[in-house]
Amino acid sequence: MSSTELLVPADVFATYEPVIGLEVHVQLGTNTKIYCGCPTGFGAPPNTNVCPVCLGMPGALPVLNRSVVEYAVKAGLALNCTVRNESIFARKNYFYPDLPKGYQISQYDRPVAEHGFIDIFVNETHKRIGVTRAHLEDDAGKSIHDGYRDSDLYTYVDLNRTGTPLIEIVSEPDIRNSDEAYAYLTELKQLMQFIGVSECDMEKGQLRCDANVSVRKRGAEKFGTKAEVKNVNSFRFVKLALDYEIQRQIALIESGGKVVQETRLYNPDTGETYSMRSKEAAHDYRYFPEPDLLPLRISDKWLGEIRSTMPELPPAKRARFVEQYGIREYDAQVLTLTREMSEYFEKAAEVSGDARTAANWVMGDLAGALKAEGKEITESPVTAERLGELVALIKKGEISGKLAKEIFPKMWSTGDGAAAIMDREGLRQISDTSALDTIIDEVLAKNPAQVEQYKGGKTTVIGFLVGQVMKASRGQANPQMVNELLKKKLD
Ligand code: ADP
Ligand code: MG
Ligand code: ZN
Repeated sequence: MSSTELLVPADVFATYEPVIGLEVHVQLGTNTKIYCGCPTGFGAPPNTNVCPVCLGMPGALPVLNRSVVEYAVKAGLALNCTVRNESIFARKNYFYPDLPKGYQISQYDRPVAEHGFIDIFVNETHKRIGVTRAHLEDDAGKSIHDGYRDSDLYTYVDLNRTGTPLIEIVSEPDIRNSDEAYAYLTELKQLMQFIGVSECDMEKGQLRCDANVSVRKRGAEKFGTKAEVKNVNSFRFVKLALDYEIQRQIALIESGGKVVQETRLYNPDTGETYSMRSKEAAHDYRYFPEPDLLPLRISDKWLGEIRSTMPELPPAKRARFVEQYGIREYDAQVLTLTREMSEYFEKAAEVSGDARTAANWVMGDLAGALKAEGKEITESPVTAERLGELVALIKKGEISGKLAKEIFPKMWSTGDGAAAIMDREGLRQISDTSALDTIIDEVLAKNPAQVEQYKGGKTTVIGFLVGQVMKASRGQANPQMVNELLKKKLD
């Protein structure tokens, strides 16, 4: 079935309330690993970025990477968390082929950051989702399942990723539907990208999400039993997996069954989740304090230094855009989707002297052209300055919006400025009265019937005449001047 089909009737569905909490792993983009000096990074030949520490050799000792701590503190601040003055590393023990130490060095009851929140905006409503904690840990290696060869099953282990710094961000169970989950993830990713701690490229595994979900009867106080859907690899799939899982749980309860606590996986081909392991088989991680690392102490002075490097974050930026440029909240949201886009917009707005028109161009023609060619805004052949200049020409009345729409694709394909293109192609707007007079006289001579109508009191026909003049000038006449001159002549 597809997850959009209902497993339960809508009226039954409406008597239940979903409860969702998300656990998000974000790889921190430091140059080197969290407990050793090996390079991080994606795509190196297998098992080349490794050393005795990240290979878990006996006797090799971890050393905490200072940059990792700074990145984690930034993330904590962006998530409105309290950053602990002292946090403790803890061993999380489990056996897996891609975990050579036999444990992750994580944090447990004293994480680097806690008690934060992320504000989301869904269906015209603002909502605050609590962030329980953000803790540091090392990533495991990667198992590469290569399938069968001569009836033998091949799996390879690549330990390059082992020791890549992660922060795990755990939400409170405050999320109530899949749209809120999607908005939370989008906001979280945006925050991490803005502060530059991670590119959050899900295809490279830089952001990974586990979704916990339960349902309860509306009005019930107690949460239902949750299932955890692990390793879903896009935000859209998280949303679809949650929609399916909510339906499955309600249908199960309605048919007299009980939700069991378990880990499930999502199959994007069927749109369904399926059981991976039950609670009985769940891990007992036997957490204990890591004896090889001292407590992490972050002084107020250091915290202050890191705080002073924080950029303006999306929520503040959005509010400022609305206030300073008079643009709509929705537009402010679009223009702050990435830091690069917000910077592009502000530069174009500044150069143009007309922020609202600049906003429309960034979200309209520019975004369209970028999308058509699969380009990032940083790769745009039309720079923010150039777009600002184009908008300035419209503002000054030197070109019409229509002409600008013709010029823009030429700027895109050549990278040249609007003025240069206009000169080269003879596209300058005609704002010269005598030149316009000549064209207008010709148009009036050709359309005596409409002139009669106008004089007879049907003044709306002027629109037709303006159109004819614009056409005769190949769109280059200044429409406002044409209007004025026509009126003068006809009246
Ligand atoms: P676990 O120990 O099983 O990992 P936690 O209490 O640490 O469980 O919670 C993990 C995540 O699950 C958190 O994001 C939390 O908000 C969420 N969560 C906890 N209980 C529920 C529930 N009953 N329904 C949905 N989500 C839940
Ligand atoms: Mg968990
Ligand atoms: Zn190493």
